[in-house]
Amino acid sequence: MNIHEYQAKALLKGYGAPVANGVPIFKAEDAKAAAEALPGPLYVVKSQIHAGGRGKGKFKELGPDAKGGVRLAKSVDEVVKNAQEMLGNTLVTKQTGDAGKQVNRLYIEDGADIDRELYLSILVDRSTGKNAFVVSTEGGMDIEAVAEETPEKILTLPIDPAAGVTADDCVTLCDALKLDGDARADAASLFPILYKAYVEKDMSLLEINPLIVMTDGHVRVLDAKVSFDGNALFRHDDIMALRDKTEEDEKEIEASKYDLAYVALDGNIGCMVNGAGLAMATMDIIKLYGAEPANFLDVGGGASKEKVTAAFKIITADPAVEGILVNIFGGIMKCDVIAEGVVAAVKEVGLKVPLVVRLEGTNVELGKKIINESGLNVIAADDLDDAAQKIVKAVKG
Ligand code: ADP
Ligand code: MG
Repeated sequence: MNIHEYQAKALLKGYGAPVANGVPIFKAEDAKAAAEALPGPLYVVKSQIHAGGRGKGKFKELGPDAKGGVRLAKSVDEVVKNAQEMLGNTLVTKQTGDAGKQVNRLYIEDGADIDRELYLSILVDRSTGKNAFVVSTEGGMDIEAVAEETPEKILTLPIDPAAGVTADDCVTLCDALKLDGDARADAASLFPILYKAYVEKDMSLLEINPLIVMTDGHVRVLDAKVSFDGNALFRHDDIMALRDKTEEDEKEIEASKYDLAYVALDGNIGCMVNGAGLAMATMDIIKLYGAEPANFLDVGGGASKEKVTAAFKIITADPAVEGILVNIFGGIMKCDVIAEGVVAAVKEVGLKVPLVVRLEGTNVELGKKIINESGLNVIAADDLDDAAQKIVKAVKG
């Protein structure tokens, strides 16, 4: 689960991180009071959406020449004007996709006099199996581009879970970020704070881009992106309370109720698969034959008929779906259960698009029999390759 920047900053502030003062608003009428609560004279008006790249983003409704989703303002009036222009409009950034995201919240924040913009994140480093700091002097911009073009400017430092962030770790990180004086002292006390917040709140990502050094030599958290491990949310009611469902895909919310691993994508072939690996392979092969998957969906190992029905309904409810590929390798999951789920779902919601079914494994003959005797207009496939070609052909007409 993700939260907004202002929520992440409030959380980090609670742990003692240096964060600017700011006020979140939902209505343009509240912009004036929010700005007046801050000392000025420099303010920033920041779009709150669950996506990065807001600064360089563009509002769909305002044309290419309008300013982006993070705006500096030099007076209360300017804050108000920007808030009126931004709220309710759709911000398109590198991370939102072409559809963009509607800006329903703004964060009015103290402006900072920036000397340097650094990058810092904490995440799971899979190669060492530890939580690790990732830092770079090249903050503020696209860290993926830095990783590609100048990987030597990024340091990954795994943290020993028993020792936590040690003094040596702080030295290593400060050196990598080329920090000295007050900034070095600030950062050395900030690293353990961030690590504590990350561990205690079961975060899966804590990204500060940028972490800034101000012209007065001190360090500040200027942006904050936090994701939480969904499997641990049950023990964090305070975090659950921060959930903003308007930022989430409705189909993904529905899928989460049934414990389905579902991710909506941009293509037009709906996929129902068991096992994450097979689901990835299915998406790959659809692309290989020149089409795009509409979703990733792993119904899991031991799905019930109800779960399969729910999954099928979620796929068919997506108006972008022009064809469905069911690809099941029955191991623990039995082919007849899948078949029954598909038939039940089709009877309930109807089938307006071509459906290709590939079944293999446990109870495959029974599964095929259920499908064949159902009277459904199903295109049977022999193997994964055959199935992918058939659904792509059916969708492309
Ligand atoms: P995003 O990463 O979504 O573009 P950021 O919060 O990182 O959003 O803001 C983008 C840029 O805007 C920052 O790199 C920084 O240069 C500037 N900025 C953001 N907040 C402030 C602030 N409080 N004061 C001054 N500049 C800011
Ligand atoms: Mg940023």
